[in-house]
Amino acid sequence: MTDLMPAIFLGHGNPMNAISKNVYTDGWASIGKSIPRPRAVLAVSAHWYVPGCAVTASLTPDTIHDFGGFPKELYQIEYPAPGSPELARRVRELLSPVIVGLDESRGLDHGTWAVLTHVFPDADIPIVQLSIDRTQPPQFHYEIGKRLSSLREEGVLVIGSGNLVHNLSVYAWGRSGVPPFDWALRFEKNVRELMLKGEDARVVAYGGLGPDAMLSVPTPDHYLPLLYVLGLRKKNEEVRFPIQGIDGGSVSMLAVQIG
Ligand code: ZN
Repeated sequence: MTDLMPAIFLGHGNPMNAISKNVYTDGWASIGKSIPRPRAVLAVSAHWYVPGCAVTASLTPDTIHDFGGFPKELYQIEYPAPGSPELARRVRELLSPVIVGLDESRGLDHGTWAVLTHVFPDADIPIVQLSIDRTQPPQFHYEIGKRLSSLREEGVLVIGSGNLVHNLSVYAWGRSGVPPFDWALRFEKNVRELMLKGEDARVVAYGGLGPDAMLSVPTPDHYLPLLYVLGLRKKNEEVRFPIQGIDGGSVSMLAVQIG
C-alpha cells in the first residue's frame, strides 16, 4: 500500500535561492529527507500563470530560466528531472470536465526547479507542472486542489510554489536582516491562524481580509498555489509550517505542509 503523500506549499522567494544555502534552502532539503519518496511530483508554480489549464507532457522537460538580471551562474543551472506524460494524462482525467491541455513543449520554470533542486537534488523523480488559469477566481483553484486529492493516495506529491506575502515593489533586493513590514507580518499571521482553524473559505476569499491583503497579495499569482494545497487537505488533517520567515521585508517564505 502506498503511503499517503503530504501536500506542501513552498515559499520560493528570490530565484538566487536555487544556488544559495540558507535557512530556507536547508528547510527544503530537510523536507525532502523527511517525507516518503514520491512516485512523481505535480507542481503548481506562480510562474505559469496563463489563460487556461495545461500540464507539461514532455518526457524530458527543459529547465526554463524565466527571469532577468541575475548572475550568469543562475542561467547555467539545469534540473534534468524527467517528465511523466502518464501523470499529465491522469491530471487531465481527474479535472474533467475542465479542459486541460497537454503541453509537450513547456519545461519547468524556476518556481518549480529552484526549490526542487534542494528538495530532490538528484533530479530523479518525474515532474509535471500544472498551470494556474489566470482567468479564474480563487475558488476555482481551491476546487482544482480538491479534485486532485486522490493523487495523494497514488504516491504523487503535490507542491504549490509561490509566496503567501509577495510584494516586490518594496522588496529589499540583496539586503539581509531587513525587518518585515507590519502588514506582511499581520497578514501572514492572520492566514496561518485561519488555516489552523480550518477556515478555508476565508483564506480563499483573501480579498476580504482588509488592506493588509492588498499590500501582501498585490497580484494573485504567488498566493494561488497555496489554495491548491489547501484543497488537498483532508478533514481535520494537521497543518504545519516547517519553514518560516519573511525575506527582504515583504516576501513570506512560509512553507505549509498538509500531512
Ligand atoms: Zn516567484
